[in-house]
Amino acid sequence: MKKYTHAWLAMMAMKRIEKAKIPARQSDDAKALITWFKNYRDFVLSGAWYPDSVFKDMTPSHIVKYEPDTSAPEGATASFRVMPPTLQLYQYGLRSDMYGKPFLLNKRHNLCDRCESFTESLIDSFKILTMENEGSPIIPSNNHIAMRFFILSHYIADGHMPLHCDARSFYNDNEVHAFIEDVWDQQVRASYFIDDDNERFFYDPEGYPLKQPEMSELMQYVEEEVETREFVWSWGSGCGNTWDYMSGITQYSYLMSYRLVPADHVPSEISKNLYMESAAFREHFFEYSKVILGDAVESIAKVWLHAWVRYRDWFRGTELAYFKEQQKKADKDLKNANKTITNYPADKQKQAGKVEDARKAVASKQADYDKALAKGGATERKAEALAKAQEKLADARETLAQLEADYKEAESSLENLKALLLAAQIQVKRKEAEIKRYADSNSGI
Ligand SMILES: [Zn+2]
Repeated sequence: MKKYTHAWLAMMAMKRIEKAKIPARQSDDAKALITWFKNYRDFVLSGAWYPDSVFKDMTPSHIVKYEPDTSAPEGATASFRVMPPTLQLYQYGLRSDMYGKPFLLNKRHNLCDRCESFTESLIDSFKILTMENEGSPIIPSNNHIAMRFFILSHYIADGHMPLHCDARSFYNDNEVHAFIEDVWDQQVRASYFIDDDNERFFYDPEGYPLKQPEMSELMQYVEEEVETREFVWSWGSGCGNTWDYMSGITQYSYLMSYRLVPADHVPSEISKNLYMESAAFREHFFEYSKVILGDAVESIAKVWLHAWVRYRDWFRGTELAYFKEQQKKADKDLKNANKTITNYPADKQKQAGKVEDARKAVASKQADYDKALAKGGATERKAEALAKAQEKLADARETLAQLEADYKEAESSLENLKALLLAAQIQVKRKEAEIKRYADSNSGI
């Protein structure tokens, strides 16, 4: 697909997340994603084109090539993934003659892996952004992450272009492929106001591509689908993550390719002109284009929102863990203060006894020393013993003073510690209640 088609699909996906009826469990997160996106969108739209303009990893990463397995025994079957019913590629695929028939997959191509790893790295980047302090040299910028959302949209969109999933090699270096993508790009460009100087769309007041008064029927159709198609959260019962989902998409994209360019043509002979004269083009091209572009928007929106919700779930869990830790600490501090207060009378009495004992010991050592001195004998050892006893007395008095100080501090901080614990408990309860709102065992994240 070409530059404006890619950028437009990404913008339509954003619009879908904002305008479609998102299931209650994800609707708050969807709103938050759009708010975040709108802050960073302007500088990053070029991301949707980055894989073609800079990475240039067309082979192996923009394609997954399938072909019918002609060596399979008669009547052999292959399993295709079960996808969400709202996907039109899936519905068309189920009605295809080739559905369930064995196919070969070129293992060198890794579009699905690329989509999966981008999804995971988006989530990782948000986690790093959350955990790192401002100014940290390893912190990713929001602009950078937003750009990676758009880069991801490119690979997802490419998986919907049927010829990216079809191993047939067509006339003159895929002339038909380029022609189809040209038609789409021309229609996008004709349907919106384009800021040619800055190579981007002009925007409407809501921040989406500004529509021309006369739009192509195809773009009109997708714009309508964006708002009205039911938003199914699940990946489909045959899929559990971006990789599975994109693997399913590319299977049905392969089946769609045989409708777009039927097998009764010899691939190496189908020139652009021949294709334009074919019934497949004249009678069905518009219909198939609706399916392809409508589903591309659907898939980009789905993968983006799944990544974002996974980050948000992690964030809520991390916050809860932090609040619980605070609660535990506040609880411990309060318990310690109470213990100090409760034990104080007994501890004080015990320590006062020790002081008294030490005082008696000093008196006794003093008497010993005085006696030795009076006798005129050696006093050195007696003096040493006396000094030790005096030291012990000083220590015992100090401990007694400390006990009193601790008691006074515990008593004066008691109300404060109670308030801190209560505040921590409230935070934990609130966060738990918030997370409960999002708890949904059927969400299939
Ligand atoms: Zn591409």
